Order: sequence, then structure tokens, then C-alpha cells
Amino acid sequence: MLENILEGLNPQQEEAVKHFKGPLLILAGAGSGKTRVLTHRIAYLIDYYDVNPYHILALTFTNKAAGEMRERVDQIVGYGSENIWVSTFHSTCVRILRRYIEVLGYKRSFTIYDADDQRALMREIIKFLDLDPKKYKERAFLNVISNAKDELIGPEEYARRAQGDKMREIYARAYQEYEKRLRDANALDFDDLICKTIQMFQENQDILSYYQNRFRYIMVDEYQDTNTAQFKLISLMASTPSENGGVEHNLCVVGDDDQSIYKFRGANIMNILNFEQEYPDTRVIRLEENYRSTQNILDAANAVIHNNTKRKEKALWTRKDKGDSIYYSQFENEYEEAEAVSSAIARAVENGEASYKDFAVLYRTNAQSRVFEEKLINYNIPYRIVGAVNFYQRKEIKDILAYLRTIENGMDDISAKRIINVPKRGIGLTTIDRVSNYAIIHGISFYNALRDYEYIENIGRSATKLGSFVGLIESFRTSLEDPDYSIEQLVRDVVEQTGYEAMLSEDDTEESQARLENIEELINKAASYEEEHEEDGATLGGFLEEVALVADIDNVDDSTDIVLLMTLHSAKGLEFPYVYLVGMEDGIFPGAMAVYGEDPEQAAEEMEEERRLCYVGITRAMKKLSLSCARSRFRNGEHQYNRPSRFISEIPRYLIHAGTGSSTASSGGVSAAEFLKHQPGGISFGTGQSNRGSFSNTSNGFSGSSYGNGSAGRSYGTGTWNPAAEQRVKQSGH
Ligand code: ATP
Ligand code: MG
Repeated sequence: MLENILEGLNPQQEEAVKHFKGPLLILAGAGSGKTRVLTHRIAYLIDYYDVNPYHILALTFTNKAAGEMRERVDQIVGYGSENIWVSTFHSTCVRILRRYIEVLGYKRSFTIYDADDQRALMREIIKFLDLDPKKYKERAFLNVISNAKDELIGPEEYARRAQGDKMREIYARAYQEYEKRLRDANALDFDDLICKTIQMFQENQDILSYYQNRFRYIMVDEYQDTNTAQFKLISLMASTPSENGGVEHNLCVVGDDDQSIYKFRGANIMNILNFEQEYPDTRVIRLEENYRSTQNILDAANAVIHNNTKRKEKALWTRKDKGDSIYYSQFENEYEEAEAVSSAIARAVENGEASYKDFAVLYRTNAQSRVFEEKLINYNIPYRIVGAVNFYQRKEIKDILAYLRTIENGMDDISAKRIINVPKRGIGLTTIDRVSNYAIIHGISFYNALRDYEYIENIGRSATKLGSFVGLIESFRTSLEDPDYSIEQLVRDVVEQTGYEAMLSEDDTEESQARLENIEELINKAASYEEEHEEDGATLGGFLEEVALVADIDNVDDSTDIVLLMTLHSAKGLEFPYVYLVGMEDGIFPGAMAVYGEDPEQAAEEMEEERRLCYVGITRAMKKLSLSCARSRFRNGEHQYNRPSRFISEIPRYLIHAGTGSSTASSGGVSAAEFLKHQPGGISFGTGQSNRGSFSNTSNGFSGSSYGNGSAGRSYGTGTWNPAAEQRVKQSGH
């Protein structure tokens, strides 16, 4: 066993894996085995130090990563892995809160509001506060609130700080109302999951002690993206009474400051930089060998990130070969770009060079996926979009879940309002408003107000309609009292008896057919949930909880042979043999805020964050990286003409193979030398004339309109070519 755990590790990795007690910080670049070290360390703790798996907590970034980690430990140790607590921050907090949240005055069956629910709620609040919805956007309010929560600033504290600032005073009122309504609905938003757990720990020493004692070894992956609240949470828990009567901080965090990409979500890079201050006895280990990518890919990544000023310099090298060049192409428009990528994937799979699952297409924003979907479908390529419209965010799924929540917990107004007239029951907005007012006056939930339908004034004939809606919900509640009545059956009954199924069947379009299939999938999900919880008791609340927390990436099964499409953010921590980084255009990636931002300081910071994102993207690739951009694309209702991303010009040109770029075959393209020869003015990459048509290359995929067949001004690069970057990489000489 033991040999297995340490086998193949380099000396620094081994040192980290063998580390037993006290704080440990592993700071290292992409692909250097940080996640692997965490996994092996868990195995080592169990196998060598005889730590009970029950005392281990590992926090990962996605549920997928959690699953993989557990599986790996299982492979190495062969026992106990089911007792390790491996999960994301959010799932961890949900588990803790489900157990103890009553001390904060919530019910354990609390609902978790997703972004949609939050927006619906905030729209109501804006209306309630008599603010002009044209001027005040719910998104801005929600951002303010989320940022405050990330910094652990509650509504009262926020209001205090806001005094004297008109706009912030308005935010403060909205924040207060938002909190009140969430509480009345027995609901938490995503940020609350962390904040309420902290609050609970701070106010209840006994609960905190329980977890401090339980989680004697805590490990955190992707530590660079933790925010202030998350750090507070970790540091509260990572304080275990030791045998000699003192306190131990058996906390091991791994991260890469160059991959910090969630500043917009409050990630606090200072968490890394201050770790050693917080824990003066920290052992710091750096890993420098990259095991993932070829030399060329690594050189490109290093060169790009080198343009950031605020960073800790790291040397990352690989013993792998140079490998393929970095492929680069500019296309006429986004359709040609997607066409080229799709045809290249199709051909590579046809030739037997690779499987679909070896490919990932990464882009900056979710909206970019649509065109790729269309083309992939044309080529019959199986694919999945990670993180876009999550299964659970589809309308029909949210509707059915809203029914289930109303049945489970009539306190959730957003859910009840969502479905009161879906399918149509002739209940209008005026009636809904009257019911809402009644609810506010009486301090009860919307659904409970509905139950009083006979007493609500001025609703006329609608009363009967409300009555039958209430009757329906109550009949489900009665059914649920029967212990033999399954959740699967409940979902079936809801779909049928509410008329939802009939509504879709009548519609009889392909879309409604797809919706019915999705609902069937939800029913399957309910059945499998019940199977899994046969012993510890399946409940409707438990089912809703599980459903609320699955991020889309969790549904990605490694064994399925499909191409994955996702944003760069979702790709963190993952690796693929072939990566397409698409839409590499100034204004897209780096995004408009970084390129055109008015405040220069802020724009510069944005740019550094975008560059880290680019570093993340490049370092996902193991064997081959293809970059592409489009000369024009349709965006926000107009044709945009973007320059190629400055990040492309930050890659030393000798690493780039241009004009082709998509096929997995390395032959048949245009050589870098040839590519340079065709550049106007040699290698200026500036804004001068570009040549026409000389680079069309049809032999390996990017047919026809590869870069260069256009007119003046459509240059290649941004004039910020950086010969120094090339120099540096050359000198580093790995
Ligand atoms: P990221 O920063 O992207 O999260 P990471 O530092 O977590 O990367 P891992 O994902 O742990 O890196 O490792 C990258 C790849 O290198 C994985 O495929 C892993 O299995 C492999 N690897 C890591 N260490 C070794 C080793 N000592 N021997 C062989 N392969 C290794
Ligand atoms: Mg990792």
C-alpha cells in the first residue's frame, strides 16, 4: 500500500504528502500536482498515520473534483474513503446547517435560492421600495449584497457604513428588506450558506467545538479563490484541541496565485499572501515540475502570465518534449471559427487520433457556446455544455421544483408565486398583488395567505381559483403523510394533477417534447435519490436540498465520450489533451472592462485578472492548444470587429503555428517561418496592412478563411508584441 502512495512523487511532493501536523501551504503553478498531492496526503494520513477518515475534511472547488478525490483515495487505500468528508464549501455548509440551523431561528428544511430566485425577489423589493425599475437594476443590488456578505458585513453594519451616501443608503434599505424576506421565506441564498454557518459557529461554541474536534485535518484545494468569509470559516474550524492541551492548526491549503480568477466573486488573494502571517508556523512547499503539458504549452503560459506585475515569480518546467506548436487562426466570423473547430474534432476522431472526450472548447462567456453547439450538431459530435443552462435551471424543472417546495415548505414565496398560474388558471397579477399585500399586512407567507383566500378582500371570483390551487397543494401534503408514498410518485402526481403534463402535451412541439423528457429525467432523479437513501430515510426536503446543490459539472461523467464546452472559469482544475481557446479577441477576452475601462487603475486590475484566466485556459491543455479568433462577430445585436487578443501577441511567436491550428495532426499546416514571412513588415504584428488570402489552408481543417485574407486594419495582433517575453522563455531554457 504505502509504496503506492509515495511512488512516482517528486521530493517536494513527497515532503508535502508526508507532512503530518501544523499548517501547510503549497504554492505552485498549474499542473504541478497540487490536487494530486492533496489526494495522496489524505491517503497517507489514513494509511500511515492511522488517522480515522472521519476526522478528515477536504474542500474542493466543484463536486466533480470532490468525487474524483474520493475515488482516488479509495483506489490507493482501499478502505474508509466513504467516511472522509470531501465536498465543496457550499455543500459542507448545507450539511452543517441542515443539522443545526434551528439555533439561528430557521427551519431545517430551508430553501436555497439560486440566481433566478434572487432576481425575482429583488425585483419585488425594488417595486416595494417604490424605486424606478428602469433606473435600479436588480443585478446591481444583488452584487452589492453579495459583496457585503463575502466580507461578512450584515445589513445593519452595511446601513451604518452607508450613512450620508444616498445611493448606498438605498442599497442598505434593499439589503435589509432582502434579508427579512429571505428569513420569512425560510430561505438562504448561496452566500448565506457560508455566512450563516460562520454566524452559527460564532454564537454557539458547542457546535463549533463539535466540528473542531471532528475535522482534525482540513485540506483546501484552489485556495487562491477563497473569499474572506470562506477563510473565516476555515480558520474557525481548523483549531483543534491537541493532546498536550494546546491547539493545533492542521490545515493544508494548496493554490496558485496566478490562477486566482474569482475576484469578481470576492475571492481574496490576500488569503494566500497572508496565510503565513495568520499561521506563523506554516511550512511552505513549492512544486515546480509540471506534469500536464508539453514544453511549448508551458512556455506559452509562462510568457503570458509574465506580463502581470503583481505576482510571485514561479519557475515551472516540464521534462516533456516540446510537442506541437500552439495553433492560431483568425476567421472571418464566429461561424467559420466554430465550423473549423468542429470539423477538426470530427476528423481527428474519424482518423482514430483521439476520442471526443479528449477535447474541450473554452470560451470567455456563456453566450459564445450557441454557435459551437450548432456546428457540433451539424457534425454529429456529442457534446455537453458545462455550467450554462444547468438542468436544474430549465424552466420546466424549476416549475416542478417550485411545486415541490411549496408542498414541502409553504414559506417560500418566490416558488409559490412562480407556479400559482402555471399552467394557466386564470389567476391574474392584480389578484397576486392583493394576496401579497394581505401576506405583508398579516406577516405571513404568500402561500399561507392563499390559504386565507376566503378572507382576502377584492379578489372576487378569483377566490374560487385560489381555493382550488390550495386544495391541490394540500392534497399532496396529505398524500405525503403516508410513509409508503414515494417522492417519485409525488413528482409524477404533481406533473399530472396540476395539468403541467397536459399543457406540454397539447403544445406538441419538439420543444415541449424535450421538456417532457427533462421532467422524466427529474422523476428518474427522484427515484435514484430514494434508492440511495433507503436506509437513512429519503425525504422531500432532503431531495430538494440535494437538487439545489448540484452544479452542472457534477453531471459530467468521465466515462462518456463527449466533447465538453465550458467557460474558462468552469475549466479550473481540469485537464484535456486537446484544448480550443476560442474567441481570442480584445473586447471579448480580455473583456471590454479590461480593454476599454474608464478608470485606468481598475482596468489594469481587470486586465491582470483576465490574464490569469488566460493562464488557466492555456494550462488546461496537455498535448495541443489551438487559439482562434473571429474578425467580426454578432454581439449585442450588432456586428463587432475585434482585434485579435493581446494575449496572443504575448505568446512568443516561435511557439505559434499560424493559419491552420485546429486539426490534431501536426503536419500539413503552414510553418511558423512561412507564417512570419507573410506578415506585413516581417514580424511587426502591428496594425498595418494584412495580406490577402495567402494563408488559406484546407489541408487540416481551418479551411478557406483562415486569418489574413482581408483588408487593411485587420491586423494580426495589437502592436504590443513583446520580444522580451520571448527572450525570457528562451533563457529559462527548460
Ligand atoms: P491545477 O493548478 O490546474 O489545479 P494541479 O497542480 O492541481 O493543477 P494536478 O491536477 O494535481 O495538478 O496534476 C496535473 C497532472 O499531472 C495530473 O494528470 C496528475 O495526475 C499528474 N501528476 C502530478 N504529479 C505527478 C507525478 N509525480 N507523476 C506523474 N504524474 C503526476
Ligand atoms: Mg488542481
